[in-house]
Amino acid sequence: MTGRSPSPPSRDRVRPDVAVVGAGPIGLAIAWRCATRGLRVVVHDPAPGSGASAVAAGMLSPVAEAYFGERELTGLLLASAARWPAFAAELTETTGVEIGYRTEGTLMVGLTGDDLAEARRLWAYQQGLGLPVTPLRPSELRDREPALAPRVRGGALAPTDHQVDPRLLVPALRAAAQRAGAVLVPQPVRHLSDVDAGVTVVAAGCGAAALTGLPVRPVKGQILRLRAPDGFAPGFRHVIRGYADGEHVYLVPRADGEVVLGATVEERSDTTVTAGAVQRLLRAGVDLLPELAEYDLVEAVAGLRPGTPDNAPILGPLPDRPDVLAATGHHRHGIVLTPITADLIADLLLGGVPDPLLAPFCADRFGGAAVAASGGPEPTKEGDRWS
Ligand SMILES: Cc1cc2nc3c(=O)[nH]c(=O)nc-3n(C[C@H](O)[C@H](O)[C@H](O)COP(=O)(O)OP(=O)(O)OC[C@H]3O[C@@H](n4cnc5c(N)ncnc54)[C@H](O)[C@@H]3O)c2cc1C
Repeated sequence: MTGRSPSPPSRDRVRPDVAVVGAGPIGLAIAWRCATRGLRVVVHDPAPGSGASAVAAGMLSPVAEAYFGERELTGLLLASAARWPAFAAELTETTGVEIGYRTEGTLMVGLTGDDLAEARRLWAYQQGLGLPVTPLRPSELRDREPALAPRVRGGALAPTDHQVDPRLLVPALRAAAQRAGAVLVPQPVRHLSDVDAGVTVVAAGCGAAALTGLPVRPVKGQILRLRAPDGFAPGFRHVIRGYADGEHVYLVPRADGEVVLGATVEERSDTTVTAGAVQRLLRAGVDLLPELAEYDLVEAVAGLRPGTPDNAPILGPLPDRPDVLAATGHHRHGIVLTPITADLIADLLLGGVPDPLLAPFCADRFGGAAVAASGGPEPTKEGDRWS
């Protein structure tokens, strides 16, 4: 960390080594990793777990979300996904909490010929990167998931794209961090100057912009939760990501009968739920998986992803503030990026030397003007992303 790392932990000092602002998955995982390694940690948040993670689907999809022009981000997603099995096991072992980590894989499907053509363009790109994407004929698709609509024209399997339940993950991370000694302070941080610690880590999701001036903006996502009738599990096991008459949706089945159906991508900062969005999500979901029409609709909600101009997170010291680290801007990928973000930030705090993996994600890559403006984003085209 540009030569400055916190002083070694000592029990007679009241001042924390690390103050983390934000108790979402990112802040809590950093707190857990730092406290486990002996640092004195406080976490400030008036409403832990109330940010984007409270609505997130929990797909761990580095392959299905390997998009054109995002190679460095794809590398980070893959590296983090590779850490997920051990991370999930350690978290469950530490806390005794099951976090809904499932490894059945992801099916990517196209409903119409046009949908399939669009999907195949992306699959070809992903295969070109050497990623595990196996095209499947309609009959092979239905062998794997008989509940898929007969109209579905084709698809592909991404076997290494998994899922976790963020509503189980965040309380587990909180328990693990507290068990390791991190102290939760249920207050917001209004100014960084109010924090007294060796190093401050800003992991406040969309709240990071006001604290740091970094170009983090809210990207609204509306998302639905359904429930299979009569206490049954959903009639499918894979995460399903589909193009349906030009609409992009995903369906995430949970063992307890829940199905998460999402999501819109909107350049807005409100969290209202609109009838039009609910209609589009339901229509596309039912077109792909007709049995959903019989499920209970139990929740319609919206959250705000912490987006950045290049869709990638901001990780590392603020320009000219080596005592303040950013760990924010995780946009559509904060759940999958939780393990690697926590490890890289903890390593930086303990060792003082940035891992080369951090270089593309440094806080000064947008230039001073972008940081000062704390906005000026490149708009995300509605509908061209899924999570
Ligand atoms: C609809 C939707 C679907 C998604 N699906 C997926 C998915 O499938 N897979 C995936 O990887 N990601 C997904 N995401 C993205 C993911 O939820 C985010 O990237 C992730 O939650 C970011 O984590 P975070 O801890 O940085 O921020 P958040 O989860 O937003 O948490 C931020 C925390 O900071 C606190 N805070 C804010 N300001 C302050 C302050 N001034 N002082 C103190 N505390 C403060 C808040 O109270 C909150 O608890 C989805 C997001 C949405 C909206």
